[in-house]
Amino acid sequence: GPAPEDTAEAQAWLDGHAGGFGHFINGKFTDPGTMFDVCDPAREKVLARVTQGTVADVDRAVAAARAAQPGWAKLSGHARARHLYALARHIQQHARLLAVIESLDSGKPIRESRDIDIPLVARHFYHHAGWAEILKDELPGHTAHGVCGQIIPWNFPLLMMAWKIAPALAAGNTVVLKPAEYTPLTALAFAEIVVECGLPKGVVNIVTGDWETGAAIVAHDGIDKLAFTGSTDVGRLIRRQSAGSGKALTLELGGKSPFIVFDDADLDAAVEGVVDAIWFNQGQVCCAGSRILVAESVAPRFETLLRARMTTLRTGDPLDKNTDVGAIVHPSQLARIRALVAEGQAEGAVVHQSDAPSQGCFFPPTLVTGVQPASVLSTEEIFGPVVTLTTFRTPSDALALANNTRYGLAASIWSENVNLCLDIAGKVNAGIVWINCTNIFDAGAGFGGYRESGFGREGGREGMRAYLRDPALAPKKGKGTT
Ligand code: NAD
Repeated sequence: GPAPEDTAEAQAWLDGHAGGFGHFINGKFTDPGTMFDVCDPAREKVLARVTQGTVADVDRAVAAARAAQPGWAKLSGHARARHLYALARHIQQHARLLAVIESLDSGKPIRESRDIDIPLVARHFYHHAGWAEILKDELPGHTAHGVCGQIIPWNFPLLMMAWKIAPALAAGNTVVLKPAEYTPLTALAFAEIVVECGLPKGVVNIVTGDWETGAAIVAHDGIDKLAFTGSTDVGRLIRRQSAGSGKALTLELGGKSPFIVFDDADLDAAVEGVVDAIWFNQGQVCCAGSRILVAESVAPRFETLLRARMTTLRTGDPLDKNTDVGAIVHPSQLARIRALVAEGQAEGAVVHQSDAPSQGCFFPPTLVTGVQPASVLSTEEIFGPVVTLTTFRTPSDALALANNTRYGLAASIWSENVNLCLDIAGKVNAGIVWINCTNIFDAGAGFGGYRESGFGREGGREGMRAYLRDPALAPKKGKGTT
């Protein structure tokens, strides 16, 4: 098979930062403060040390972003576009380094970080460079919010950062972003790219730390717009804490998305779809298809095919190019997955698993059958490589099961009957619906949920609007201008 990914460049980068990382504020790195360890979950070893952001650090970052914002917004759209194009190109130039750091830090297979995450990151900056160019004509009268506070999770560290930063900058905002505490390294590598590209100081600020640093961002008076991606519980808290503050807010939260297989579906294609839906990124995907609903008449054949496919999945070293399923991001997340599966088993569910290494932070690809709709495995977001299989008789049964959730992020529908697909797509409560495919993302398409999956969209025209004040709502003297 192929040789393991070459880690020499990433190792040299880590060695070069052996003294630890400070924050990136006003165009330069601060001296490290109180630091915490960042670990490689597959090898269970420390990769780097980063600084826990304090209220004072957030204050300095917001002040830098405030000072930079009028000048950034006053640049012509073309000038902002040139900066965004430069970021995109430099991300491509450093693609290998970024992919290896991402896999080391998060545990995701190198094939995914190299072929999916990093190319989509570059694509996001290219796409939004285009928006900077055409904004005045496409969304006339809109103005930037001003300073954006952005808080992101660990499952797609650099991609979630790109989803937040690219549209914000295109619109003329400046940003203070906090990466997740498990996976801050690629955001810090990106800060070096910001320097390399010569962005005006203060336009991008990265402050590392845990929930306390996030809370300082949420509470800060100098922030005009908050954007959060993460768990529904924290999203709810942020909504409560920011209510009445005048800050604009978008939330991208959890999901428990249905994967519906009708009796006329191409079952082999649908089985491959399941692999993408729940074993991509170890199932640590907000829009993961975590509930298979399959027509009763084809269910036995489908289950046989799926269990056979599971035995061929290779779970192991994220840096091995043959690996299909990598490591779980952190031991605490592994413990949570184990506890939920054990609870489901205690309720009587039947668990089918393939192999996974016993050393390191791994959980095997898991299929659960015999699970009741009220079971914890049917209702709770597991955020791991665990999928349930339930049968239905009629399309209306399928729809009722699909919508039996507090969430409304995504749905995937498999059938050769296009009328049936379109009918169900219109009735399922989901912000994103895929037909005969799953987990397809593009910078040009709005992404986001309903209900407990949050509100607001990222990507496309809808995503741009979230980073602009609507002319109808803007006060006479706005803080930002485009
Ligand atoms: P989390 O909510 O614990 O953390 C997300 C981020 O918020 C981290 O940076 C964390 O430090 C910060 N944070 C935590 N508590 C905070 C607080 N009180 N105030 C301010 N910031 C705080 O979630 P996680 O465990 O990192 O990520 C997993 C969750 O994210 C899953 O539930 C998943 O569904 C969700 N997610 C959703 C999407 C989406 O687009 N809808 C994408 C990725 C992940």
